[in-house]
Amino acid sequence: MEPQINDLQIDSRLHELHFTVCTKHMSSTIYQCPNDHTEEVNIESQEKKPFNCPYSGSKCGVTGDTQWLLVHLRNDHHVEMHDGRSFSHRYVHHNPKHLHHPTWMLTLLDCFGRQFCLYFEAFHLRKTPMYIAFIQFMGDEEEAMSFSYTLEVSGNGRKLTWQGVPRSIRDSHKTVRDSQDGLILTRKSALFFSTDNNNSNKELKLKISGRVWRDQTH
Ligand SMILES: [Zn+2]
Repeated sequence: MEPQINDLQIDSRLHELHFTVCTKHMSSTIYQCPNDHTEEVNIESQEKKPFNCPYSGSKCGVTGDTQWLLVHLRNDHHVEMHDGRSFSHRYVHHNPKHLHHPTWMLTLLDCFGRQFCLYFEAFHLRKTPMYIAFIQFMGDEEEAMSFSYTLEVSGNGRKLTWQGVPRSIRDSHKTVRDSQDGLILTRKSALFFSTDNNNSNKELKLKISGRVWRDQTH
C-alpha cells in the first residue's frame, strides 16, 4: 500500500528561532592526491550520478541533480520550502486511531546554501502504531556527514530529543525509516506529548522543533 498524506498536516508554519547570518562555509572536503587521479575520477562520477526524487512514497520516477529536484518537488509535489536552520512545526494527525497505511509528510529546509528533507511519518512497526521524524540531506553521503541535526518533541511538561546525522537522499526515505534512524515515538507515548488532550484523542497534535548545523571540523 502506498503511503498517503491525507490524514496528516502541518498546522503551523516552520519559523526561524535563532536567526543568525548564514556563513557560506561551503569548502569541499574532497581529498585529491596529486599522484593518483583514480579517487578524483570516482568522486566526479559519483557527483554526476542523478538523485532519485525524494518524494519516494508516490513511487515517482523522476531523477536529476538537486537543483532540478527542488523545482520538481515544489512544482509537481507542492512541497513547501522553508528558509533557516531552526524550525518549529506542529503536526496534526487526524484520526490517529485508524491508521491503516503509512501516512507521511515532507518539508524542505534551506540553510547553509544546501537543502534538507524533513520527514514526519505515521506507520506500523509490526503491529505497533509509530511516529518517526528525521532529516535527509539533498546531496551525497560524504557531505551529509558534515551536518548534524536535532529534533525535539515537547508538550505537557515532557520533552524528548533526538540528535542525528542526516542521511543522503541516495537512501530512500523508506530505508531510513525502516532502519529507525530518527526520532521515534509509539502512538501511546505520542499521546503524552499531544498538545490537545481534550479532544477524546480524535486528533494528535505534536510540536516538533529542530535545528541543523554544520560540523566545523569538516
Ligand atoms: Zn517526484
